[in-house]
Amino acid sequence: MNGREPEALIPAAVDTLPINFAILDDEGTILYTNRAWQEFGEANDIEIRPDTIGTNYLAITGQAETETAQTAAAGLSEILAGERELFEFEYPCHSPDRKRWFLMRAASFTDDDQRYVAVAHFDITDRYEYQRRLEESNERLQQFAYVASHDLQEPLRMVTSYLQLLERRYRDELDEDAEAFIEFAVDGAERMEAMIEGLLTYSRVETQGTSFGSVDLDAVLDDVLTDLAVRIDETGADITAESLPTVDGDASQLRQLFQNLLENALQYSGEQEPRISISATRDGDEWIISVSDGGIGIDRDDGDRIFEIFQRLHTHEEHDGTGIGLALCRRVVERHGGDIWVESEQNGGSTFSFRLPSTTDDEA
Ligand code: ADP
Repeated sequence: MNGREPEALIPAAVDTLPINFAILDDEGTILYTNRAWQEFGEANDIEIRPDTIGTNYLAITGQAETETAQTAAAGLSEILAGERELFEFEYPCHSPDRKRWFLMRAASFTDDDQRYVAVAHFDITDRYEYQRRLEESNERLQQFAYVASHDLQEPLRMVTSYLQLLERRYRDELDEDAEAFIEFAVDGAERMEAMIEGLLTYSRVETQGTSFGSVDLDAVLDDVLTDLAVRIDETGADITAESLPTVDGDASQLRQLFQNLLENALQYSGEQEPRISISATRDGDEWIISVSDGGIGIDRDDGDRIFEIFQRLHTHEEHDGTGIGLALCRRVVERHGGDIWVESEQNGGSTFSFRLPSTTDDEA
């Protein structure tokens, strides 16, 4: 170990980083650049080289008239003027033989009462490419789910209707067993139809959702309660609700979300009459909306599984359903920038909660 202070090693160490890095004074004059910055300057043949100590970096960013350069120059000006602490900006930087993306980061700092600005450009091409491939693959999957479910509907309808025709036309010639077999087959086909219908709705959450607007969740809940009035009446359910906020979202998807949660709360109530309560709690700049029931509950180990598509904890004989409802809820909540979870004990009732970003003027 020699006796040099670690700080003295910083310039040489910064030269090893794969980040273009420079320090400017508070007027934008370049005071220091690392090796990556200099090599970038050499490789990019522009009028005022950005690796020249003593030139003004604002003049360099301002010399190109592209929108990217103008945005970078505007952000940097604000930092230099002390109007903001940090400016971050992602931009494309393509040459004829390479497509690249960079993240520019400019932040001010002070030393001995003098203000400086550190500017860094990170090559984020790998992340961009990865994200683009992921988006493409998601899109293909969605397209696949849509086409598969859409195209499966037609042959399935044919199966159901010919089975029903068979039953109608040959009723007198069929024995009891044959009738029961046809009934099972129709039942299976109808369930499959409901699952395909659900899959279709699920695959459309991203692509066919409407644009976001201001949604009064009280009104959404009222509509859902009206739609479910017969079920509520039949089951003798007791439903209480706190005042709910207005959020930014897709009204018809949020309605679907409430409807699925309430249908489940009515369905999985156990022996006693359903007791359901709906509440809203503010948590920072988000709302947590909860639907609680005093029903049969969910084993802790199944708490995540039930949000997966087609995952059910009950057989068709015990409870009707397709296993799409909660998967759809999760997809809708995620499209709204939130998350959804359940807290429950076996036989102790369940509370399904979801988090949604709040709007600015959304007092409950
Ligand atoms: P479905 O109700 O059509 O089966 P869901 O996706 O809505 O599909 O629910 C998945 C499973 O989660 C249900 O089959 C049920 O076992 C369980 N579940 C959902 N909601 C509740 C609830 N409120 N209480 C107890 N179990 C529930």
